Amino acid sequence: MGKGIWVFAEQAEGKVRKVTFEMLSAARKIADAKGEQLCAVCLGKDIAGLADSFAPYGADMVYMVTHDLLAQYTTDGYAKALCDLITKEQPSVILFGATVLGRDLSAKVAARVGAGLASDCVDIKLDGSGNITIRRPMYAGKVYADVIFPNASIIAASMRPNVLVPGAPDASRKAEVVTVTPELSATDIRVKVKEVVKTAAGKVDLTEAERIVSGGRGMKAAENFKMLEELAEVIGATVGASRAAVDAGWRPQSDQVGQTGKVVSPNLYIACGISGSIQHYAGMGTSKVIVAINKDSEAPIFSKCDYGVVDDLFKVVPVFTAELKKMMAE
Ligand SMILES: Cc1cc2nc3c(=O)[nH]c(=O)nc-3n(C[C@H](O)[C@H](O)[C@H](O)COP(=O)(O)OP(=O)(O)OC[C@H]3O[C@@H](n4cnc5c(N)ncnc54)[C@H](O)[C@@H]3O)c2cc1C
Repeated sequence: MGKGIWVFAEQAEGKVRKVTFEMLSAARKIADAKGEQLCAVCLGKDIAGLADSFAPYGADMVYMVTHDLLAQYTTDGYAKALCDLITKEQPSVILFGATVLGRDLSAKVAARVGAGLASDCVDIKLDGSGNITIRRPMYAGKVYADVIFPNASIIAASMRPNVLVPGAPDASRKAEVVTVTPELSATDIRVKVKEVVKTAAGKVDLTEAERIVSGGRGMKAAENFKMLEELAEVIGATVGASRAAVDAGWRPQSDQVGQTGKVVSPNLYIACGISGSIQHYAGMGTSKVIVAINKDSEAPIFSKCDYGVVDDLFKVVPVFTAELKKMMAE
């Protein structure tokens, strides 16, 4: 048996993020091939109810790391609790979701434990020699690099949500559950969370959304996004935006998709009034199906999309929404 492949099981308000199951399914194949144990590591407070969530996706062992000071995510608190456990148990691999939290935590943890880190990765597998190879986009998605870690004692990577395919859960699988109480004190945490401001209730986070309707400068005004909200409502999508729309103050920064915004990989990405700059594409280029609505037939988005409509979005979107509504009702 090796030292173990770990998946950081991110949860928020008692709900496990989907990327955790995606990573467990991918890591299961590697654990089998290398004869290693697969462990899920979940941090928080009052999370005991989640312990059985991970075995069906392949975990052999589950660490439930609980403490009052882990009730809210803080880089200091989570990093200390996780690093102490890594130092004690010495896993060979640790995977994080490339979520806002996972990107923050993975960098800190990797630096502290001396792990090699590949960020925002889209695939993980073994090469012909049995080395773990991790694929990540570079230069705003223009090329992919296959990264190996010849000298790292621990391999760390953050995996982009919605890219790895989760296997079907096997309810008969069971895992050993180990509860860990980390040594944490208030002085370990230099940041105090005063308030958590929630976005609209029920809205699926952009990074995990299966469908996204995004608007750009072509939307012309904040109030016109209502049209996209309506379309999103009909197809169960989350609304995103280009940086131009965010810079104009039409949408919050948390909605921005792209190089300096969120990286998304939905099954369906509908770009409305977005030209398709390389910086925008860096954030949505791995979407499975891309639909563009743009009145300029020369817009770069048309060389990157699967389906394109060359027309005024103010004409197209309401008709599209109405037709979809009818289809859904049928
Ligand atoms: C370092 C750096 C980082 C960046 N990071 C990001 C990022 O994270 N995300 C991002 O999005 N951008 C980013 N940008 C900005 C990027 O370069 C572009 O400026 C931006 O993506 C353009 O947004 P847009 O497509 O909405 O606007 P535009 O490029 O102005 O395109 C608007 C489009 O709307 C179309 N249009 C107008 N009216 C209509 C209509 N009525 N019907 C249909 N179509 C219409 C036009 O034909 C046009 O193609 C970054 C830039 C830099 C330098």
